[in-house]
Amino acid sequence: MNDDGDSHFAYDPSKNANLKGRRRFKADLEDMQIMSAAGYTMKGLRLSNIEAGEDDGSFNAAIEDTRGKAILTANFLVSDTSEYPKSHSLFCHSLDPDLSSRLEAIVESVVEQPARPIKEAIDSFFGSVAGAIAPKAPIYVKSDSEGEDSGEESETYDYDDMDDDLGAASSEPKAVLSLLQANFIDAVASSYKPGFTRISGGDDFILSVSIPVIALASSLIPPRALTAWDRRLLSTSNQHLVLLISGFRGIYPIIQSDGTYTEDAQRFSATLSFKVGLSPQYKPGYEQTREAVRKHGLIITDAEDELEKQAELEKEQEYWDDEEAEYVEPVVEVVEEEPEDPTRFDKFSLSHSMESLLDQSFLKVVQYRRKFGLGWAGAEVLHSETEKHQRKPEDVLQAMKKAIDDADKEESRLGRTLALPHDPLAGLGRNEPINLPLTAFSYLIRRLTLCTKYCIVCHNKLNTDYEALKPYVCDSKLCSYQYFTMNRGPSLEYEIVHNTKTVDLLVSLAYCAASEGALDDPLPIGLGLRVPHPGPLPAGAYIAPRRLNPPLPHGADPSAEAQTTNALEIGPDGLVDFDQLSIPEMRAAISKQIDALPSIEAMKKHLQKKVRAGKSKPKLREMNTSLLPAAWLIFRWVVCSCTALIEEIISGNELIEDLDPNWRQFRLSVGAPDAEAKFKTAVQAATGTSSNAKTYPVLYAFHGSPLRNWHSIVRHGLWYRSVANGRAFGDGVYLAKDAMTSMGTYASGTRTAWKNSQSNPTNCVALAEVVNLPEKFVSSNPHFVVADTTWIMCRYLLIKGSSLDPVGENPSSKTLVKSPGLRYVQIDPKQKTTVAQKPIQIPDPDFQLESLLHQRQAEVIEPSYDDEDMVIFNLDPNAESQSQSKGKGREQQSNGYGDAMDVDDDDADYRLPPAPKPKAPVVVEKPADDWKHDSDYVERALENLMLPPFESSPGASMALQKELRAMLREQDAARSFRELGWYMPPELVGDNLYRWVVEMHSFDPDIPIAKDMKREKINSIIFEIRFPPTYPIAPPFFRIITPRFLPFIHGGGGHVTGGGSICMDLLTSNGWLPSYNIPAVLMQIKLAISNLDPRPARLAKNWQTPYSVSESLAGFKRAASTHGWTVPDGLDRLVR
Ligand SMILES: [Zn+2]
Repeated sequence: MNDDGDSHFAYDPSKNANLKGRRRFKADLEDMQIMSAAGYTMKGLRLSNIEAGEDDGSFNAAIEDTRGKAILTANFLVSDTSEYPKSHSLFCHSLDPDLSSRLEAIVESVVEQPARPIKEAIDSFFGSVAGAIAPKAPIYVKSDSEGEDSGEESETYDYDDMDDDLGAASSEPKAVLSLLQANFIDAVASSYKPGFTRISGGDDFILSVSIPVIALASSLIPPRALTAWDRRLLSTSNQHLVLLISGFRGIYPIIQSDGTYTEDAQRFSATLSFKVGLSPQYKPGYEQTREAVRKHGLIITDAEDELEKQAELEKEQEYWDDEEAEYVEPVVEVVEEEPEDPTRFDKFSLSHSMESLLDQSFLKVVQYRRKFGLGWAGAEVLHSETEKHQRKPEDVLQAMKKAIDDADKEESRLGRTLALPHDPLAGLGRNEPINLPLTAFSYLIRRLTLCTKYCIVCHNKLNTDYEALKPYVCDSKLCSYQYFTMNRGPSLEYEIVHNTKTVDLLVSLAYCAASEGALDDPLPIGLGLRVPHPGPLPAGAYIAPRRLNPPLPHGADPSAEAQTTNALEIGPDGLVDFDQLSIPEMRAAISKQIDALPSIEAMKKHLQKKVRAGKSKPKLREMNTSLLPAAWLIFRWVVCSCTALIEEIISGNELIEDLDPNWRQFRLSVGAPDAEAKFKTAVQAATGTSSNAKTYPVLYAFHGSPLRNWHSIVRHGLWYRSVANGRAFGDGVYLAKDAMTSMGTYASGTRTAWKNSQSNPTNCVALAEVVNLPEKFVSSNPHFVVADTTWIMCRYLLIKGSSLDPVGENPSSKTLVKSPGLRYVQIDPKQKTTVAQKPIQIPDPDFQLESLLHQRQAEVIEPSYDDEDMVIFNLDPNAESQSQSKGKGREQQSNGYGDAMDVDDDDADYRLPPAPKPKAPVVVEKPADDWKHDSDYVERALENLMLPPFESSPGASMALQKELRAMLREQDAARSFRELGWYMPPELVGDNLYRWVVEMHSFDPDIPIAKDMKREKINSIIFEIRFPPTYPIAPPFFRIITPRFLPFIHGGGGHVTGGGSICMDLLTSNGWLPSYNIPAVLMQIKLAISNLDPRPARLAKNWQTPYSVSESLAGFKRAASTHGWTVPDGLDRLVR
């Protein structure tokens, strides 16, 4: 401990040993000052100054290097000098404005050190600082090559080994980069885009992972759901979902294979932090990235917003300390249609929820998965129960084994109907390292896909019968409170500006429901609303027993009136607690507060006011400061509690034709995100059972209800409540053939209307698409009564208003320009859809969404990785043998990450050495005696080839293009075709992206099949590869076209089925991974065919008869069932 390093000053540790407390502190400090004046040096650093600070027990110290360059100035404070030097705490903060993150970590960690005399504390501090600025360890790393067996200790950085050669040039942290490269390549293989951003100053970095939103929409999340969650997800071109991971403090890897922080990470108190947002590029610009990961992480903020944010957090705290807390208007975030800045990073409606989930739970959930071998869902249950009961996870696991296992089982069931992202932890060995960016991003995508099944605030699984289209909160009071008061839900301001008519409609419906006594569940309870004393209720109103009535004050006169109103406690603000009201009083309070609100149009104008740069944006509350906070909060509740998608239709492509312009048209979607898929399946099934349904698969019908009921109908799902109730024509959802039938009895206008309403709704019906099998309905006359709710898909909300819009605002005068190719729903002449007996024409509801997706798809530009990322991709793990790696092919990669997919099209191939960057594919001159392609042979074999697959998807097309380019480049760059072992005839490429023809050749000449082929002069085995629209999530189908192999039952082998398909686990749902690339699979197939065990593959006698497709499919299914493998979904469609 008493190592003076290179100090030239003799130090006597026992000199002040007789002193204690403050006197000892002063004596020790004076000694240090003398030592400093004498030139105290240690580990190449000099204590250039040390002096007493302003506060008692504090001192300032300055450190410089031996050349006199200032390194660090810090203030130290002894907590309680009377405890010195045995049990005090030593605090430290830096006096330098911009300190590197590593030095900051050292400064922060001083307080964690044991109590000791100043000299020892300073010595230890010097050691840490010297270590942190040492050139040899710019980034801490546990490198692959150092071997697992050497244990943790060998990777620990040893300060004492430092020499003081601080002037040396910084060496490249190659081990970090090569590990990052491996992790990046894996992420690319999962079709994600990784990114690296070095923080200026050089010792820390931020990682990003992204996916284009359009790719999510085409493979994982129904586009209708994405649109409902946040319109910006698909309404803006080239949007990427981006995850930023920060807090590494330059350390990589930062977590160990069990999911806990590495020792280095712990020493520097590294803590991961996650940000989720949208960017036009695969990663946001440097400034935006830095801004996003700053402590409070607000993306577009100014100083005033920052203060408000702080106030909010404090209020939140207060709410739970003190139930009387007053509502504080949350930070207003108006998202404007700003000019496209490609470097931006925007929050969207789910950013906050996903960030808090990742920050709070991700690492814990990973740790539980690794420790107990659970899946995501099981580990989440374990995590949530462990937190809730504050018990050890082992105990919870024991007590809840079944529930935890069930959660995992349920998720694998879900995985059959819902596309879930590939799980990087599945099948990962206990000691295998975790790919942090890939795992975190997969987890994010998984939770995004499942977001409607979890509470958006506390992240626990929702236990509701009805799954809404949009994510929502559970019924805990804390969650509701945060959702509505902390702006955790959708942005109200965004809705006002961009969805004005819908907001107006929602408020009008809520007003009607409240005034006409129909508003019950849900009610804005738990939000801390404070409203005026309701006073006596109007005569005749039903008085429900008040809940949670506080006891009457002693001596109060319990007169009749007092029983209903006086029991309410009026607070110092002159208001009462909303939650204490009876339900009729609540309804009255709600309509009263809504009546005070300005019109939505006025709010929109206010929010769109221009403000000077640097000034905070206009806030709703400023519109009328005399309004109670409760009015604004009820307003927010009305809009943000609606989990259906309601948007006014303004596009001619979607407007129903021949409809009275007094009916406004809104797009309406309700129910779980995958409802559309279930409906499509039901329609598909119907077309097979009825010839009429084959021609007219769907019919359209109306669902009507009095206006006052619609507030709750759109919140509970249209059908959810009506199915169970027994009624005249049986149990089910009642749908009318003519709009006026369902409206008939209710057509009279409402008694009440919100005075500032602009839509003034009087009648409301939903128009739904229904599977056209009336004979299977519970009843079809006079109404349709449908029992199976998956047979109904809501499309429109039609609203009749009592007042027309001002001129020019009427929907009928809006752009009625129709897109060419606009499709209309084929209406069954037997099941006409009418409004007041007038037939209407309905545009195909998929048309608009499909065109939107096509547009997004067409705009996709494959962004090229920037220089910073290319450094990682270009890194050659074997720098010594640079020139040899060229053209080696993927399977020979030495880093063990052989199945890398390609990254970039026309830029450098990262698997090659960095320089020179070839702009065009490298075509390598092949040896003269190489295998040669025979186009006549292939052409003959393809004569009777079946049609290519008919299903496609943008996600699969994108992945296939990428894969195809990579293969062709690999083929061109191969030193010889013989070495490559396969060949893609270029003349057949481009025929159809979803069907490839590949030849396999150059088998080991000593094996029987090679001898057979040589004897019969067969140039190659010709394969057809067919890709499903779900590729790369689902495997492609490989089959041999020719030659025919000897079947297993006749003594053949080589894993070729009787039908010419390949019997391998990796081509089934069980074994396939989206990260597999086609050359790697071809290599596996070649190995299987070459395998002599149990019997070698041979040609059949009739080897010239090509295999048929049906044969291959039957063979594959037979083989899969023999082995218990799962045949991929949709395989039959793929090969028909
Ligand atoms: Zn919750």
